[in-house]
Amino acid sequence: MNSNFSRLAQTNLSNLGCLLSLVLIAVGLSAVGLGWVINGIFIIIGLVALLPFVAVAVIGWWLRRNIVTGACPVCAAELTSLNNSQVNCVSCGEPLEVRSRQFQRVTPPGTVDVEAVTVDVVDVDGVDSGSIKAIDAEIVDD
Ligand SMILES: [Zn+2]
Repeated sequence: MNSNFSRLAQTNLSNLGCLLSLVLIAVGLSAVGLGWVINGIFIIIGLVALLPFVAVAVIGWWLRRNIVTGACPVCAAELTSLNNSQVNCVSCGEPLEVRSRQFQRVTPPGTVDVEAVTVDVVDVDGVDSGSIKAIDAEIVDD
């Protein structure tokens, strides 16, 4: 315990000596007329201390500008991604592109999306035989 205390006291004394020598150097430079060096050092220390806050603010601004939240055009699942990037939908696996802050399907050129409609089918006799549901079609031009 005694050796621990003496080691602690030595450490504190060496830190104190270092601080004392820095103060002496500062006073000496100011006396010689080089106070601007000390001011420059303090300005640099201040800028380095401000750097993390500025970095967090800039990164937050960039993320707010570039993160896009929207619905998958295929399954309407809620998605979040960066603008101008490609992602796969986490729900249906469809490859999607984020262009101009909107999710769009990646389709080969000439592909036309067709909306599904429900068509009631009636026989010639007038008897309702049910309905056709969920037509899913892609028309590809050549
Ligand atoms: Zn989807």
